[in-house]
Amino acid sequence: MHILHLSSSVALPLIADARRDGVRIIVETCPHFLTLTVEEVPDGATEFTCCPPIREAANQDTLWQGLQEGTIDCVVSDRSPCTAELKTDDFGTAWGGISSLQLGLPAIWTAARVRGRELADVARWMSTAPAALAGLAGKGAIAPGLDADFVVLAPEETFTVGPAALHHRNRVTAYAGKTLHGVVRSTWLRGVQIADAGRPTPRAACWYAPERARRGAGARGPAPTWRPTGRARRERPRRCARRPDRTRPGWSAPRARGPPRS
Ligand SMILES: [Zn+2]
Repeated sequence: MHILHLSSSVALPLIADARRDGVRIIVETCPHFLTLTVEEVPDGATEFTCCPPIREAANQDTLWQGLQEGTIDCVVSDRSPCTAELKTDDFGTAWGGISSLQLGLPAIWTAARVRGRELADVARWMSTAPAALAGLAGKGAIAPGLDADFVVLAPEETFTVGPAALHHRNRVTAYAGKTLHGVVRSTWLRGVQIADAGRPTPRAACWYAPERARRGAGARGPAPTWRPTGRARRERPRRCARRPDRTRPGWSAPRARGPPRS
C-alpha cells in the first residue's frame, strides 16, 4: 500500500499499527507539508493551496517526528504547477498545487537542519527511498556502477526566494520571500553537468530537451565540449547528436546532399 501526500499527522499511529500487523505500507509526504504552516498563510494567498491542504505548526512537528521514527519513508516533490490565472483569489476554486521541484531540496534542508537532522537524512528521504520505491536500481546512492547523479550543494549558504529566479515556466510560488539554506552550485545527471551556478548548461538543452536544441535555444552560450561515451552515447537523442555546433567559428550550413557525381 502506498500513502501519497501525507498531510495529516493523525494517520501516523494508524500506519504504525498496520505495519506492526504486517501490512506493507510505504508513506510519502511533501516539502510544503514539512515547511509551510497554515498560520503563516496571508489572506487570499492562494499560492498556498494544495491538495490535501497545508496544516497547523503542531501537525507539522508530528510529521517531522514521523520522519525521524521512520513511519514516513519518502519526501517527494508532488510538483503541481499551474498558470497564474488558475490560482484565482478564491481558495475554493484556485488550482491545488505547489511547485517544489527547484526549491524542494533547500526547503527541506532548511527545516531539517534546525531540527538537528543531517544532509544524509535528506538524501535518504528525497533520493534513496524514492529510488527504491520506483525500482530505479541505478539511482539513490553514490556508488560504483550507479548513475552519476550529483548535486553540488553549499549547505550553509543562504538565498532568498524570488519568483524571477525560478526556472519554472509559471513562476507562482508559496516560498516567495523565504530565506533558505542550501545553494545548489551544480547539477549532474548520468555524468553530464546539466546546471552550473543556477543556470542550465548548453549540454542540458541538447541532452534533455532535444526539441529546444533543434529550435536553437541550446545553440547559445559556449560551445559544448562534452562528447557522449558508453551508455550516454547509446542513449543520446539522435537528432541532437547530429546537431552542428553553430557557435564554432567558421561554421556554415551543410549543403544538401545530391545524387553522387560521376
Ligand atoms: Zn499530487
